[in-house]
Amino acid sequence: MIDAHIHLDMYEEEDWAELLGRAAEAGVRGVVGVSKDPSSCRVTEVLARKFPDRVLPAYGHHPEQEPLPEEELEALCDWIAGRGNANFAVGEVGLPYFAREEARKAGRPFDMGPHIRQLARFIRLARELGRPLALHAVHGDADLAMELLEREGYGPAHFHWYKGSPGTTARLARAGHYISITPEVLYDPASRELAAHYPLDRLLAETDGPWPYEGPYAGRRTEPAMAADVAAEVAALRGLDRNRVAETLAANARRYYGWPD
Ligand SMILES: [Zn+2]
Repeated sequence: MIDAHIHLDMYEEEDWAELLGRAAEAGVRGVVGVSKDPSSCRVTEVLARKFPDRVLPAYGHHPEQEPLPEEELEALCDWIAGRGNANFAVGEVGLPYFAREEARKAGRPFDMGPHIRQLARFIRLARELGRPLALHAVHGDADLAMELLEREGYGPAHFHWYKGSPGTTARLARAGHYISITPEVLYDPASRELAAHYPLDRLLAETDGPWPYEGPYAGRRTEPAMAADVAAEVAALRGLDRNRVAETLAANARRYYGWPD
């Protein structure tokens, strides 16, 4: 198994080896370690150097915060391009659904323009570098993200923690985009529905740790080992063999992220 999306840089450095060790014991042999801003990118790079067989780094700027000013965005894109031939992805990037919702509830105006321009820039970067893309674009934002991907001539992308209407989900599947299922699949009906019906060859497992979960995980630290539970639950929901599904989800992650076998 591979945990296709985790913020490993947000855990204490002294816990990294233990988390990856526990993951390996559970059959999760690697993680895609995403970054949330320029300084997080540097920590992620340290992680990838320290655990080259376990951590595939993704570099970006998380969309649920202020977009980077033009100069800083260009500096980050230059830095990412400067990683050269190392194996890496672009992410976490996307569109600010939750920040926009918060502004709407508080009656504050919210300008999507800079966010859209920033995402378009990251999509172009991923296209130019020929790299995978870890996207945060939930609900209706997934439609907008798909339009941007089409306009920039890039695809497929990985829509992490995707949630959305049946229409949007069908469009994602038709376009061949990957989505990932989180430990929420053990207790959240919408996540269970996606896990049961989205094309299996476009499905990934993720934890998005350290994000905390509920249900059987209430009060527990989120860790990459939980990606194995996700695979087992996807198998149960589809009435398929557990090992076969775990292998398929891992193969999907390896294929999309270009992980060496
Ligand atoms: Zn994330």
